[in-house]
Amino acid sequence: MRTPYGQECQYFYGDYYRGKNHEECRLLGSEVSLSKWTPKLCKNCPVPSILQANACPNMILEGKIKQGFLNLNKNMQVSAFCTQTKTIVREPHVGCGSCHPFPDVFLKKDE
Ligand code: SF4
Repeated sequence: MRTPYGQECQYFYGDYYRGKNHEECRLLGSEVSLSKWTPKLCKNCPVPSILQANACPNMILEGKIKQGFLNLNKNMQVSAFCTQTKTIVREPHVGCGSCHPFPDVFLKKDE
């Protein structure tokens, strides 16, 4: 589904049927996070670009809301985990490199 800012995000859900105006982020797990979420957080959320860049089925995303100073600058913090290698994925846009190793020409040679 498209977010109010036009990016495609599989975690965005909007129900506008018969005058309803319910929107939620299904990436957030806890009830507390869901109550703090607003659609404005989609504007700078990295998830749509991660999903566009990396479609690895073994990567799981986890999101939480990071509160800024005095509740300003709230934003989404996203972490990724690979279920195959059981490691944290440092760069979710690229992946952990296990399923899709980089070709040798891109790897740094020691000599
Ligand atoms: S906050 Fe991010 S993950 Fe959640 S619905 Fe918006 S774009 Fe998707």
